[in-house]
Amino acid sequence: MELHLEEGSRVCIVGGGPAGSFSALHLLHYARQKGIHLELLIFEPRDQSSLGSRGCKGCAGILSTRLLTGLAAVDVTLSKEVIQSELHSYAVHVDGDIIRIGQPDSSRKIVSVYRGGGPHHLPGERPSSFDRFLLDQACAQGAQHIQASVTKITNDKLPIVFTNREQYTADLVVLATGVSSNNPLSPAFGYRSPNTQVMVQDELLRPPTWPPDEVSVFLKQQRGVFFGVLTPKGRCLNVSLLGHKLTQDAVSRFIDSIEISPEQGGLEGLCGCAPRIATSSARHFFGDRWVAVGDAAVTRLYKDGIGSAFYTTKRAMRVVVFDGISKQAFKKDYLPYCKNIALDNAYGKLLFYLWEKTLNTPFLLNLWKRAVSSELELPPEQRIHMRILWGMLTGDELYKDLTRLFLKQPALRGLMRGVG
Ligand SMILES: Cc1cc2nc3c(=O)[nH]c(=O)nc-3n(C[C@H](O)[C@H](O)[C@H](O)COP(=O)(O)OP(=O)(O)OC[C@H]3O[C@@H](n4cnc5c(N)ncnc54)[C@H](O)[C@@H]3O)c2cc1C
Repeated sequence: MELHLEEGSRVCIVGGGPAGSFSALHLLHYARQKGIHLELLIFEPRDQSSLGSRGCKGCAGILSTRLLTGLAAVDVTLSKEVIQSELHSYAVHVDGDIIRIGQPDSSRKIVSVYRGGGPHHLPGERPSSFDRFLLDQACAQGAQHIQASVTKITNDKLPIVFTNREQYTADLVVLATGVSSNNPLSPAFGYRSPNTQVMVQDELLRPPTWPPDEVSVFLKQQRGVFFGVLTPKGRCLNVSLLGHKLTQDAVSRFIDSIEISPEQGGLEGLCGCAPRIATSSARHFFGDRWVAVGDAAVTRLYKDGIGSAFYTTKRAMRVVVFDGISKQAFKKDYLPYCKNIALDNAYGKLLFYLWEKTLNTPFLLNLWKRAVSSELELPPEQRIHMRILWGMLTGDELYKDLTRLFLKQPALRGLMRGVG
């Protein structure tokens, strides 16, 4: 059956995180191109300017190069107030050694932001919220924000979106609820949400001597923690831990285990949360008159979830405006795009597996450390292991491309140099 949006059609976007606001921005952009006017309602209960977990969704807040370049296409320029830090290098700490890697080239810019209004106990001026900024941009371009939680979505001839107070009949529903809450779709939709893993994080006051533009990654720092990352965000440092069955006290143990010089002072937690990260794709995530986007559909493994939300929403909304809103239309053009992300994540899993094995095998770890350090003498374009590491840490390159790079001669030769 052919289904299309028409002049004045109503689109209900459920969730006003990055995927919800990006959906609105792309939809408005394509609708302008096609010369139709749509009614866009974004349902989001969170006051994103609030402090702590009430405003924030629990995220390190690193924005990738591909996201920053993509935003211009929907007429969005990040304001100075939203950007907390520009990040130029990573310091990887492993077994007492520090490996420093810089941006492979100056065009690969990354920045950090706050998703909400900043940590609970941050003294002084409040930072600006990235999520609030995006939602305001979507509203300035024509969307309408309804500050309410969606309690239920039913599917009869048309989908109906329910809040505690009202109900809205929609021509199309865009599900952008992420993975941190129960989705409101009725079972008739057949939607199956992605698998998730718990991460723990906190915000700390950044000690005055701590580099403002360098992300610190700690490997093998603590039992059960695969990696711990300290990301500068203006006056603060975000600490995020990925590991097995982590609880909130893992953060304080992790902080205690980091050696801080006396002049850097103590590192005390200002907030603290245990958000979920998606580790697989959703199933049955579109149908006639509805489509899931962002984390609620598929995202890149461990990295660049916000950039991924930008591009899944772009593809889905292009289908919506130019190809239609039937299950068939999404299957033809949106599904293959999402499958490619899932396939790339399989390469990502392989790379992270190899990395974990390397870290736990002293001989391999030494080879790898020597290969990376010896690249410092090479011109930037020949620093293959550093580029792979930068790509894995930032999510800035496809895992598939990084795997290919790893299996090519120069990378293997680099490793073999360590044997001799
Ligand atoms: C610890 C951690 C660190 C991360 N670090 C990074 C990073 O540095 N960079 C990066 O790019 N990605 C990072 N990610 C991933 C990133 O957070 C997600 O990929 C991104 O938030 C996905 O955006 P989204 O809009 O799909 O979902 P969300 O950001 O989860 O937004 C969903 C929105 O829907 C709303 N909602 C939910 N249910 C309802 C309902 N019933 N009615 C109305 N609204 C509803 C919620 O309030 C929320 O605002 C990290 C994730 C974790 C867990």
